[in-house]
Amino acid sequence: MLKLPVYLDNNATTPVDPEVLDAMMPYFTRHFGNAASRNHAFGWTAEEAVQQAREQVAALLGAGADEIIFTSGATEAVNLAIKGTYEIHGGGDQHIITCVTEHKAVLDTCKHLEKSGASVTYLPVNKDGLINTNDLEAAIQRNTVLIAVMYANNETGVIQPVAEIADIARQHGIVFFSDATQAVGKIPIRVNEHPLGMLCLSAHKIYGPKGAGALYVRRKNPRVRLTAQIDGGGHEKGMRSGTLNVAGIAALGKACTLCASKMTNEGSRIKKLRDKLENALLAIQDVTINGDRVHRLPNVSNLSFANIKGNSLLTAISKTIAVSSGSACTSANPEPSHVLSAMGVEADLAKNSIRFGLGRFTTEEEITYAIQKVSEIVTEMKG
Ligand SMILES: *Cc1c(COP(=O)(O)O)cnc(C)c1O
Repeated sequence: MLKLPVYLDNNATTPVDPEVLDAMMPYFTRHFGNAASRNHAFGWTAEEAVQQAREQVAALLGAGADEIIFTSGATEAVNLAIKGTYEIHGGGDQHIITCVTEHKAVLDTCKHLEKSGASVTYLPVNKDGLINTNDLEAAIQRNTVLIAVMYANNETGVIQPVAEIADIARQHGIVFFSDATQAVGKIPIRVNEHPLGMLCLSAHKIYGPKGAGALYVRRKNPRVRLTAQIDGGGHEKGMRSGTLNVAGIAALGKACTLCASKMTNEGSRIKKLRDKLENALLAIQDVTINGDRVHRLPNVSNLSFANIKGNSLLTAISKTIAVSSGSACTSANPEPSHVLSAMGVEADLAKNSIRFGLGRFTTEEEITYAIQKVSEIVTEMKG
């Protein structure tokens, strides 16, 4: 039996995989030790769990275990990467290059640094959501200390030309940091292929719990240096003080291992369902895809529905299908999404844009339901 509402908002967060839950449970009760306790078995057991997770996270990225710093999530990792780079270079008028379609964690961190005197270039994107690497090269200055461009976009799934960006950054001796929160676990990522300096990820986007994440920081060829943003007991090699969230970290490790083993089959299964949903909805008049169709995650479809009467397609759909829209709907007067605006989608159309985010637990039956229900609602609202 189909259970309503259907969950198609896996880019916002994912349910915890039961196998991940099993892996984390012992660390709440029986193995509750503090990973920093060096003198007894409780501490050692916790430390072993953390070390195993470090290896599991590293394995998914082709990194070394000693290159993983655990954080409370991607937002914290982004703050550490960007502010930490800016500060280690002495602050002041250092230059950072990022992109207009980044997650708010990146954009707001950059805005914060601008107030401290940093200069920031926000690269534009084309109508498909991709940056132009010529723009990137042209933006590089003598004082550029960081290039921060996301791996895949959370609203559209668009995958940036990360390999090319990494090569350009390397040629100029600039650190490249990529927010890979949406890409990790869904597409293969190797930090040494086109070498990245830093990369962040979050457990709750890959079937782990909320409140755990990691920052990969390159240790050699060349070593990436950072100024810590949280001071205290010197955990995580002084890069992130605070008692480690052992259960969350164990869960993150397990989540990474599951992603590694499932990625190929899961990716093609989800892509088939996504394409089925997308093609069925595209058959309705005035429906368009937002984002490059080729360079895109397999699980996301961001669609604009033109010529809709009435004010909220999202409200109508959300009664039975959990999705997100192309607007920040936290306020009474929704602002169109900065991502869609940057791609040239007009405010009116952005308001009637829906992000469908499929995941590990999405079923064929749910997609069949979504096709039928959304088609029905859209047809009605086009009146
Ligand atoms: C979810 C998300 C974040 C924030 O991650 P948290 O772990 O919730 O802080 C950052 N960047 C992208 C691209 C995301 O999708």
